[in-house]
Amino acid sequence: MEKLTIVIPAFNEEAVLPSTISRLLKIEAKLIEEQLLEQTTDILIVDDGSTDQTWNIIKKAHQNDSHIAGIKFSRNFGHQNALMAGMQTAVKTADIIVTIDADLQDDPDSIPAMVDKFINNADIVYGVRNNRATDTWFKRNSAAIFYKSLNLLGVKLIENHADFRLMSKRAVQTLLEYKERNLFIRGVIPMLGFKTDKVYYKRTPRMAGESKYPLKKMIAFAWDGLTSFSIAPVRLILLLGILASSLGVVALFYSVITKWLGLTVHGWSSLMISIWILGGLQMFSLGILGEYIGKLTTEAKKRPRFIIESTIGE
Ligand code: UDP
Ligand code: MG
Repeated sequence: MEKLTIVIPAFNEEAVLPSTISRLLKIEAKLIEEQLLEQTTDILIVDDGSTDQTWNIIKKAHQNDSHIAGIKFSRNFGHQNALMAGMQTAVKTADIIVTIDADLQDDPDSIPAMVDKFINNADIVYGVRNNRATDTWFKRNSAAIFYKSLNLLGVKLIENHADFRLMSKRAVQTLLEYKERNLFIRGVIPMLGFKTDKVYYKRTPRMAGESKYPLKKMIAFAWDGLTSFSIAPVRLILLLGILASSLGVVALFYSVITKWLGLTVHGWSSLMISIWILGGLQMFSLGILGEYIGKLTTEAKKRPRFIIESTIGE
């Protein structure tokens, strides 16, 4: 029989964590009762540098039930790194790993359906939300634009799937082979291959607490997704460059002809326009190149993705 570990990234989640834990324990207990899972099924919570009671809640939960374990980061390393740390630890003992947000916006009642698909040979089961009605207008539309532009650039993403998914041991082990520091998990997983499946669920509002993804983090996340996954922006620069220089050739002919015809000196406005457009294009291009060089620098340093301060139950 298989062993499941549920991995939960948590950043200042004191408001929801106790009820999240008891809800997930109930679901696991039911799966064990139905003999779909092994008795030693775990919950692993990754405290991503919380400044509230999150770690104390994890410690207390472990005292009450030794199947609950925790990892505490030395500071906030971000959602994606918390997920990686959780999966990396869980894969040592688990056969199946489910990742879910601490706020239970992703319906934990779909976990049994995921396990079912796993038993039917899927290595990766995506939780896909069938509505975004509970998101704000802004989040809904910015997410839609983000998915559309990534798809246009050739990055395959599962639409309306966040980080609620089940993965088999070998799928997680393969994911861990991707060593880049700025890992955009959602973009890499469809590249792993394996048999995949989907479970649809309704996304509900956060139980309590506030979103830990303010606009700044959201933009950083989207930008990372874009530039760590595709060199399309650099290609775009090339195209713009070709376009701009062809226009320059046309302008050259134009100015030579007007000179021959004796229509001189009226070129001030066209000069200004081309200086501004070209200047802008150059700055834009340098910015994008700089972004890639910056990425190379961080990757070359091979800094750790996260630093673990302490663990409990591991
Ligand atoms: N999270 C994290 N580190 C961060 C930000 C968020 O571990 O720096 C966790 C957070 O505790 C939650 C999950 O990532 O479990 C998703 O965050 P949230 O629910 O705030 O995002 P939203 O649902 O608003 O997109
Ligand atoms: Mg949430």
